[in-house]
Amino acid sequence: MKQIMIIGAGPAGLMAAETALSQGARVAIYDAMPSVGRKFLMAGKSGLNITHSEDSEIFRSRYTAPDARLAALVEAFGPAEITAWMAGLGIESYAGSSGRVFPVGMKASPLLRRWLGRLGEGGASLHTRHRWKGWDGAGALLFDTPEGEVHVTADATILALGGASWRRLGSDGAWADILAARGVEIEPFAPSNCGFAVDWSDRLLAAHEGAPVKGVALMAGSKTQRGDFVITRTGIESGAVYPLSAALRQELSAHGMATLIIDLLPDTDEAALSARLESAHTKDSASNRLRKAARLDAVKIALLNEVTQGAAPKDPAALARLLKALPLTLTGTAPMDTAISTAGGVAWDALDERLMLRAVPGTYCVGEMVAWDAPTGGYLLTACLAMGRGVGRVVV
Ligand SMILES: Cc1cc2nc3c(=O)[nH]c(=O)nc-3n(C[C@H](O)[C@H](O)[C@H](O)COP(=O)(O)OP(=O)(O)OC[C@H]3O[C@@H](n4cnc5c(N)ncnc54)[C@H](O)[C@@H]3O)c2cc1C
Repeated sequence: MKQIMIIGAGPAGLMAAETALSQGARVAIYDAMPSVGRKFLMAGKSGLNITHSEDSEIFRSRYTAPDARLAALVEAFGPAEITAWMAGLGIESYAGSSGRVFPVGMKASPLLRRWLGRLGEGGASLHTRHRWKGWDGAGALLFDTPEGEVHVTADATILALGGASWRRLGSDGAWADILAARGVEIEPFAPSNCGFAVDWSDRLLAAHEGAPVKGVALMAGSKTQRGDFVITRTGIESGAVYPLSAALRQELSAHGMATLIIDLLPDTDEAALSARLESAHTKDSASNRLRKAARLDAVKIALLNEVTQGAAPKDPAALARLLKALPLTLTGTAPMDTAISTAGGVAWDALDERLMLRAVPGTYCVGEMVAWDAPTGGYLLTACLAMGRGVGRVVV
């Protein structure tokens, strides 16, 4: 019977463990933290969006420049398989109006509890507080534990060490130096599904820090995203911003700054808006005109004033054009540790067809630690689970 070591007990590692177990392997799972799946639990805090129910072609297009190996793994274990797998654990799921799929109870904890229970019943052993440090001189896996160093040998090792954000949950990216020292190509980490920095004026922050800007369309590169975003002390965050991360990051790295185009009234046609502004009562103040004729709320009016430094055009046609395409300058990304996920990590060229490290035979990589990128919407967890599933099959 093959002995498989899984290092990293997030969703990718646990799925690899479950699959290897079902193939008849002996499985031991190691994690540096005192408890497992901490990022998975955090993902479930405001609703565990585990996958997406949209058309499969659109679903596939969500992965940024996907490697064919990732595409094939997600094809083999995608939304339908994930919801069936959850049902097998007694967790029913539903698709919200946006197509996002959640467990009915929304949280990750019942799913994780049952999953760990099934792994334990299947015979997997779990070793927490085991921080992987690399390999010893004889090629055994080396762990730091509260009881001292532990050396372990395996027939195959699956690394599922996560990305480089939310280090307090265990995903610190420290593994990158260990692998680089073994000649593994690592693409630099970059924040993804992250907020962006804006030099807000004190005036705007005093009145609107923490305020949501609702029902807008955001544009960056060739992408448009509808939804809401939040004005934070340092910039903008959440919902509609995250899916544009890759495009904005690219522009920032090329030019040192990026322009986010905001359509403040995506459901109103520009000509109709211009006509409404034209016919507005001329005795009204500028902000009353914006409130009554354009139906802008106070936050949107403040945003317009911020971008135009209080000099919004008076001409109705020019004002309508600006309200439909307000350019907001972004000066950087939010700190990487606050990002929902990270791009970069183990380069696809460093992996063979089975996701085994070419430089370290017998060692495989799965999950966010591999260099792929996707927006939130369930695509991250789907890819992590699919990679764990695929590699758990081939190692045994
Ligand atoms: C706030 C938040 C909300 C999110 N919401 C969603 C969502 O709704 N939908 C979605 O698809 N995704 C979401 N994500 C992203 C998703 O949680 C991650 O992409 C996913 O958890 C990555 O899985 P993973 O198994 O690759 O790595 P991780 O879950 O990061 O697990 C890696 C594990 O490896 C362990 N580890 C690391 N280094 C070592 C070491 N040296 N030795 C031993 N163990 C080590 C860590 O302790 C950790 O347990 C969210 C993330 C955050 C932070």
